Amino acid sequence: MEDQQTYLGVTFDKRLTWKQHIMSAEAKARRKLNIMRKLAGTNWGANEKVLKSVYEGNVRPHLEYGSSAWFTAAKSHHQALDKVQNQALRIITGAMKSTSIARMEEITNIPTLSKRRECKAMIQATKYKSLPDHPMKEILKQLSSGRLKKSSFTLETRALQRKHQEHLPNQVQPIVFETNDHLCTEKEDSVDIQTAVPLLSAKNEQSEIVRKAVTMTMLDEKYPSENWKVLQALSNNKLPQLERTIYSLKSLKTVVQWIPSHCGIIGNEKADKLANEGAKQDQEENAVSFTEMKTIIKSLHNTPQQQDSYHQLSRPEQTIIFRLRTGHNRLNQHLYRVMKVIPSLMCPCGEAEQNTEHFLQTCKLHLAQRQKIWDQPTSIKEKLFGSLEDLQKTARFVVETGTQVSRRTTRRRRSVNVAFHR
Ligand SMILES: [Zn+2]
Repeated sequence: MEDQQTYLGVTFDKRLTWKQHIMSAEAKARRKLNIMRKLAGTNWGANEKVLKSVYEGNVRPHLEYGSSAWFTAAKSHHQALDKVQNQALRIITGAMKSTSIARMEEITNIPTLSKRRECKAMIQATKYKSLPDHPMKEILKQLSSGRLKKSSFTLETRALQRKHQEHLPNQVQPIVFETNDHLCTEKEDSVDIQTAVPLLSAKNEQSEIVRKAVTMTMLDEKYPSENWKVLQALSNNKLPQLERTIYSLKSLKTVVQWIPSHCGIIGNEKADKLANEGAKQDQEENAVSFTEMKTIIKSLHNTPQQQDSYHQLSRPEQTIIFRLRTGHNRLNQHLYRVMKVIPSLMCPCGEAEQNTEHFLQTCKLHLAQRQKIWDQPTSIKEKLFGSLEDLQKTARFVVETGTQVSRRTTRRRRSVNVAFHR
């Protein structure tokens, strides 16, 4: 008798607590985290973009492997994994320990692990539903008895489904496995499992493409990707609907070609008008395909990356800017209030508390450097959230004043250690 067994890289334990699996995943991820530590320090090394891709490519996969199996595990197990991600975020941003996790997630655009687990579970449930004879299909359909139950894949995914109900289409098309047409014609009756390809084209997209092809709006430059899709669909004959339409049009002798849009070509303007009218009409509500559903679920869980010149800075500049933005830096106010390592929060000038605003805007000790770098009064917003040039100026100001925003002096390091040991 074995208490645990690993199958396809997932460790199953006797009571399905997933503890062993999650612990070994955490250990693996932590080992990989060391790669990131070797790549950058606070003031040197790779920038946020590089570190982020190292994290997403080398560390995070360990934290997520098989998550749709074990995502029902206890919260405390999940938290062990979340901690690894938080550490990685701190390495990526070069932030101090006290910095809030939400701020680091925001700037790096790395979603929480729980959000990603939810997304994966929902996709998995959708897949079960769209596979014609998967044993999970019926189980997912059954109504729950309403009794108190241990959390299970079915219950959890159902709850997630309800949570996002208004954004999700009602029906998923079954995944149909069809044989590839031209493979059949080459060697008749000898289609084996390898030549059978899953046909995963989206139905809503299909009708869109057909309408486009018929009205010849593929000539509109505004949507190059869609045009490309239309041409691709035409050339590989993947959409039977489109093929039929083109066939019925063949009696009219159709020619498909690229021409510039909106420059007074009568036929083109007409086609454009027709297409617009068609788009305004009631669209039949089709069940969406699995791939389309997957895209929808993913978009529910992803936030687009914010445009920010922060991402173009070098490592030392990024650290300085992020620390000034969050207020978690080595200026006296933070060291006194949060880190509790120095006796006073006053600026050496003695006029005010030393925080980001006082340091950047008013402190008289740095007047000369400030005037040298900014020849006219600049708002703090511009200095911290402005263009690439603005941010670089701020970073240069920090370096030239010799103020410790991110670098530790030996004296301070000693005092920090004392504080931690206590
Ligand atoms: Zn001052």
